[in-house]
Parts: sequence; structure tokens; C-alpha cells
Amino acid sequence: MPSTFTHEFNAHAFKGKVSFSTGIFVNGQFQDGSDNTTIDVINPTTGKVITSVSEGTAKDVDVAVDAAQKAYDTVWGLNAPGTQRSILMSKLAALMQENADELAALEALDNGKTFNWAKNADVAGSIDCIRYYAGWADKISGQTQETTMDKLTYTRHEPIGVVGQIIPWNFPCTYISTVLMMAWKLGPALACGNTIVLKPSEFTPLTAIRMCHLINEAGFPPGVVNVITGYGHTVGNAISSHMHVDKVAFTGSTLVGRKIMEAAAKSNLKNVTLELGGKSPNIIYDDADLEQAVNWAAFGIFWNHGQTCCAGSRIFVQEGIYDEFLKRFTEKTRSLKVGDPFAPDTFQGPQVSEVQFNRIMSYIESGKQAGAKVEVGGERIGTEGYFIKPTIFTNVDPSMKIVQEEIFGPVGVVIKFKDEEDVIKQANDTVYGLAAAVFTQNLNRAINTAHKLKAGTAWINCVNSLHSNVPFGGFKQSGIGRELGEYALNNYTAVKAVHVNLGHKM
Ligand code: NAP
Ligand code: MG
Repeated sequence: MPSTFTHEFNAHAFKGKVSFSTGIFVNGQFQDGSDNTTIDVINPTTGKVITSVSEGTAKDVDVAVDAAQKAYDTVWGLNAPGTQRSILMSKLAALMQENADELAALEALDNGKTFNWAKNADVAGSIDCIRYYAGWADKISGQTQETTMDKLTYTRHEPIGVVGQIIPWNFPCTYISTVLMMAWKLGPALACGNTIVLKPSEFTPLTAIRMCHLINEAGFPPGVVNVITGYGHTVGNAISSHMHVDKVAFTGSTLVGRKIMEAAAKSNLKNVTLELGGKSPNIIYDDADLEQAVNWAAFGIFWNHGQTCCAGSRIFVQEGIYDEFLKRFTEKTRSLKVGDPFAPDTFQGPQVSEVQFNRIMSYIESGKQAGAKVEVGGERIGTEGYFIKPTIFTNVDPSMKIVQEEIFGPVGVVIKFKDEEDVIKQANDTVYGLAAAVFTQNLNRAINTAHKLKAGTAWINCVNSLHSNVPFGGFKQSGIGRELGEYALNNYTAVKAVHVNLGHKM
């Protein structure tokens, strides 16, 4: 029997007891993994174990895929009208709303993101996303094509079948928590009638497991959603290389994205969508509203502890305002409060895990070694938990790792530029293309720059703006496909053309 996780929250932001089973979730049941092993769940604020959850295996993935196929063939897919799917999804959104505080508290505990952001961005964004796609479930339709008088020709947008979904821990992205990432994946997949085998990140399994309880409570038929907690190299690999998984949707690093694509190619050539990393440019022209640019730039790189796929980690500042910008930006950075995720005025909590903490610290070290200047930050805070000072480097050059690679932590580089041509060249000098931002009060310059940047999202005078009905995804090595909006439905439907002969004789 899987263990029950019980925790009494006594934080200013949330008081209450949570208690739920932490097994893998297959066919509507919580159970142990086939090897009876577990994974420790760590609180990044203290570095201590909170609980342990069942560890799934490749065998468990097989069972979950069978359950998902059976559900697809009997009670979901083409067998469940869109209205029914819509009703269940709306119920799920309502239950998430009822349990919003608890979900946010779990995310703060397990991921380290602040309770306030977890509640107002991640959980609220997740509810909005599930509601949005509940609205789509009964509006999926094909087209009719005019061909010849003796033919009726039309298309059907059918569900793909059993889909595998592998998600990260950061919005466990965007408002990046497990719960948000999960909603981005479940919403369009369920609306289109697919059944699901999902693997959350090993670092943040708690909200994903709690969501399974709500999925049962909402009344989804068993097998429609299956969630296997476990490691990437076992469970994740089993999903992406499974012969009976018809599609895999992945959010995570570019490195692992490559492995997913390779596994899909080597198995059944399943359809692949990828939401990957970024090294997003944030361009600030001389004529920008300086105070606003400073505030947004700080939000762009430091929000969610810098663990944001679209973080504005390369900040380009035009030479006329460079000194003043840097002065104000370092002041702003120093003022950001880092600490307990449950305290109301905390902006930044701990990094998600020791692995990530060490990775970020080694990037900071590499910047120092390479001769970049630390303007502010550049070290850890305290000795307990995984807290890092918001950090800004200057005096960088394009050969440095801190300029080229995604750090996924609170570390930004500030770079001076001359003019539009110069900055566009520098901004596009990256293998990534997830997002970009431009700050200027000149409308023509704003729009021209936005159009020339090679990125899936371009923000003008803002950053990190995301809406359920607006597509999000990457150019270049930042991904394939789009999440959110009507565009995401394409990820989860297969188009069938039907030709009906109305009397043409051979
Ligand atoms: P990650 O290391 O790539 O892991 C993502 C997921 O893939 C985890 O569940 C991981 O499992 C699993 N995985 C690892 N190896 C695997 C394999 N061989 N086969 C199948 N699955 C495997 O990424 P992360 O550190 O969790 O998240 C940070 C990254 O995600 C950053 O690069 C960020 O930019 C990106 N991201 C992108 C978006 C977007 O929308 N574009 C959003 C959020 C995050 P484990 O549990 O074992 O780690
Ligand atoms: Mg954790």
C-alpha cells in the first residue's frame, strides 16, 4: 500500500492539514510501483526530506498505457462526446479552485516557490487553463472541402490516442510549477479526447499526485489520466520509447528533449512536441521608460528564482542609458527579498533542489573565472536550504558560458549595445528562440525589433506575460509545437480526410 502524506501547515499564508495517498496513479487507483521502491521528496527551504512517494518503473508504464488504451477505446476518445469531456474538465477546474490554497502550499513546500506566486500565478493560471480548454472540448471540428459535384469530402480532427506527457519542476514553467505545467499538458489533450500517461518531475511530485485525487473526485473515468512518479531515465524513457504511446509531449531541457525525439524515432515514430529551454534577450533602448524597464527586467530574470524557461537572462542596454540603468538595476536587485516561501513579502524562495543549486553556483563560478564582473550577488545565502542571491554580471563576452547557456537560476548578464542593428545581431546569436522582450517608447522601433527577433514570443514593454488563449513555444532549439491557445489543439488531434462517392461510376 502506498504511504499517506500528512502535513500540518502552520504558515501565516496557509494553516491546515493535508493528507493524501502518494502512490502512482493508474486506472484511477493509487498503488505502489512494481519494485516497491520510493523516492524522497525534499523541502528546498531546509534540504530535509518531507516524505517519500512511490517510484514507478517501466513495467508500471506498460500497465498505465494498457489502462489508457482501454479507456480510450471504451469511455473516452471517440466514445465520449465533447460536452461530457467539457463538463468533467469544468468540474476539475472547480475542485482546483476549492483546493487552491492547499495546492499552492504544497507547491511552496515542495518546489520552494513563494506561496503568493504559487497561488496567484501557478494555481490560478492552471485553473484558467483547464477552464479554457473545457470550453474547447465541444468545439473541435473539421472542415468540408469543395471537390467535385459527385463527392462529399470533409476532415475530422480525431484524438491521437494514448499520449505520454513528461513535465519539469519549475512551473512544476511560466508561471512554472508542476501544477501549471500539468494543466498546460492535460487541458488540450483531454479536450481533444486523448488519454494520458504523465510523468511529473521527481523533484516536485506532490501537486501532481494531489491533482490525481481531484481528477478522481471530478469523476473522470479510470484510465483517462494516469500519473507515474519516477525518474526520467526509467519512467520518462519508457514513455518516450513505448510502442503503444501515440504521441509524446515534453517540457524540459533541450538536452533531454533531444533524447525524447531520439527515443520516439527509434520506437514507433510517435508524434513529438517539445517545449525546451531559452536564453531570452531583453532589449532596453535609450528612450525606454527607465523605471519601468528596470522593474520589468528584474521581474524577467528573477521571477520564480530565475527558474523560468523564458527568463530574460541576457539584458541588452543601449549605451546612452547604460550607466544609469545599471545603477538602478543593481539597487532594485539588492532590494528583492529572498527567504521563506511562506512569508508574505518574500520575492524569491530557495532553488528547487541541491542539484540545481550546485549547477547554478558552478555557473556563477565559471563567470567569475572567465573574468566577468559581479555587480551584485554572486553567492549563496546562509548554509541551510538552497538560497542564492540574485546575481548580475557585467563585462561579459559572447564566448562565456554565462552568456550562452541556460542557467535556470537568478543570474543575469547585462550587455551594452550601440544601435538596433547591433542589438538584433547579438540578441539572435543563440541556439535558443523561446522569447524576447523590447523596451522603448518608439512604436515603430518596438514593432520592427519584435519582428526581427527570432523567438516564439516577443514582449513589448513587458515580460513573462502569458495567457491561456495565447500560444507559447520556441523557435530554433527552444522547441517544436505550441502550447496554449487554439494552436495547442493541433498537438493533440490527427486530421483524417474522408472522401464520399455520391454516385461517380467507374
Ligand atoms: P529536464 O531535466 O529536462 O527534465 C524534464 C523532465 O524530463 C523531468 O520529468 C525528467 O525526469 C525527465 N527526463 C529526464 N531524462 C529523461 C529521459 N532520458 N527520458 C525521458 N524523460 C526524461 O528539465 P528540468 O530540469 O526538470 O526543467 C528545467 C528545464 O525545462 C529548463 O531547460 C527549462 O527551460 C525547461 N522548461 C521549458 C518550458 C517551456 O515551456 N519551453 C517550461 C518549463 C521548463 P526527472 O524527474 O528524473 O528529472
Ligand atoms: Mg522538492
